[in-house]
Amino acid sequence: MGIKENAKEILAQLPDHVLLVGATKTRSPEEILEAVKGGLSTIGENYAQEAETKACILGKKVQFHFIGHLQRNKVKKIIEFIDMVETVDSVRIAEEINKRSQALSKNMQVLIEINSGREPMKAGVLPDDAESLIGEISAFCNIRVMGLMTMGPLFGDPEDARPYFIETKRIFERIQSLHIPNVAMKYLSMGMSNSYRIAIEEGANIVRIGTRIFGRRS
Ligand SMILES: *Cc1c(COP(=O)(O)O)cnc(C)c1O
Repeated sequence: MGIKENAKEILAQLPDHVLLVGATKTRSPEEILEAVKGGLSTIGENYAQEAETKACILGKKVQFHFIGHLQRNKVKKIIEFIDMVETVDSVRIAEEINKRSQALSKNMQVLIEINSGREPMKAGVLPDDAESLIGEISAFCNIRVMGLMTMGPLFGDPEDARPYFIETKRIFERIQSLHIPNVAMKYLSMGMSNSYRIAIEEGANIVRIGTRIFGRRS
């Protein structure tokens, strides 16, 4: 099957409340446009330079989420065309996003990335630190916290990822119950090609899928 058909098939399977984000690192604009023909509306990019080039070519044909590790010195490059940053995990990066958004009179939607596996070398805030981080970020006027994102440890058997999705959902619900001003716990971004079904069972309403749409990355 082609890219267009893959996108169509996955979209047909997803419940209506779940947003498909095509994980498009290394994919060409032509490949992305094939997926758009199949109904894909939103892509997730990992690298600032690559995202900028594609934004230039794809323009308003897709919504852009940033799903990679974002460096402070790259925020300025992407702020104009990105619709949501899914990977905020520190006050420092939030501060920079806020500053650059303010300069464009923009209100940036962000998700807080949770290091649900508590893996030392991984991005994301530790589960126990999420609440205080979100409290601090809620003070920034040009950022709106819209939910949480997690990768979780990578497993051959996606069933092994389930506890990490459950833990992230638990944090999501706790923060929701706090009714923090300027914080809307609306989106829960979890699950990739091999794990999205389990993630949806555990409450994901954004899934980030690359391989199942575009084939293996070379
Ligand atoms: C690449 C990537 C994905 C998608 O991975 P696949 O296994 O190809 O579906 C999802 N999320 C993030 C953050 C990624 O970098």
